[in-house]
Amino acid sequence: MTRKFNFSAGPAALPDEVLQQAQRDLCDWQGKGLSIMEMSHRSDEFVSVAQQAEQDLRDLMSIPDHYKVLFLQGGASSQFAMLPMNLLRGKQTADYINTGIWSKKAIAEASRYCTVNIAATTEAEHFLRAPTPAEIQLSPDAAYLHYTSNETIGGVEFNYIPDSGSVPLIVDMSSDILSGPIDVSRFGVIYAGAQKNIGPAGLTVVIVREDLLGHTLAGTPTMYDYKVHAEGESMHNTPPTFAWYLSGLVFDWLKRQGGVAAMAEVNQRKAAKLYAAIDRSDFYANPVAIDSRSGMNVPFTLADAALDKLFLQQAEAAGLLNLKGHRSVGGMRASIYNAVPEAAVDALLTFMSEFETQHG
Ligand code: PMP
Repeated sequence: MTRKFNFSAGPAALPDEVLQQAQRDLCDWQGKGLSIMEMSHRSDEFVSVAQQAEQDLRDLMSIPDHYKVLFLQGGASSQFAMLPMNLLRGKQTADYINTGIWSKKAIAEASRYCTVNIAATTEAEHFLRAPTPAEIQLSPDAAYLHYTSNETIGGVEFNYIPDSGSVPLIVDMSSDILSGPIDVSRFGVIYAGAQKNIGPAGLTVVIVREDLLGHTLAGTPTMYDYKVHAEGESMHNTPPTFAWYLSGLVFDWLKRQGGVAAMAEVNQRKAAKLYAAIDRSDFYANPVAIDSRSGMNVPFTLADAALDKLFLQQAEAAGLLNLKGHRSVGGMRASIYNAVPEAAVDALLTFMSEFETQHG
């Protein structure tokens, strides 16, 4: 098996061990003579897999008992609509922090259901930093405050949890969930598409405080009602069973690595050495303010964009995959989620240094 180093932003790298386990399980799960994909979601076997995955996620994130964990479909993008539908609770306004492309999408969708107040934005500075706590202006009548803890495309991450005052704090944690410890009790809702730092595409994890359930906007589709999924243990309809199972293997792997605190240490080392190499050189650059730099997605440009294609070709030949930046910003982006080992970052640094020597 030749596994290369994969810096994809999502769907992203999965741990080798997890894929190997899935391969062993694929045709015959635990001697049952069938695949986990071929079982009823209501079978004892699948229910035990599903419950173990939830328990492991609860352990990893220290999720308090008064939060429900939902395993849904529809991607983080469906949450952009589900949030106002479930959380406006009779109010007409919601506060949103705008830090880039993903916050903007959340704002656009929420604007279909309520008046969005932009509580803070760094758009005038091209989204090259997160706002400071002092810049966040809450409106008096908002139902909640929403922010994006890590802008996957811009590579901008909050290094603090915003204060939402007396209203629930909602976070799109798609690209930095499980990258380190967080205090779940600060949040009303945490949501994340799985395909970056959790597991394969097709699963969306929603962690919601129980008292927020049951106040949906009139006309909300049944499938968009958190309470329906909470009461049905995420089995109101057929859940994405394979993605749920595989995410469970990732949670188990994370526990064996020492949990999110241990991951945070490795993640900090990986990010620190990559940013240090970029900052040391005149050939590579990252424009994001130092205190807002993402620990997960590291965009960088070459001094001469005409070399981008060659960089990507040679990187691929060196076994370093998916370094192309998002089409909206160009340049490069190295996504260094939990499943990207430190050895991958070391190999990238060696390649970058050699490329600079040749072309700098
Ligand atoms: N939010 C963030 C921060 C993302 O990075 C993404 C996906 N790149 C999304 C939302 C949308 O996720 P999905 O494709 O699962 O709808």
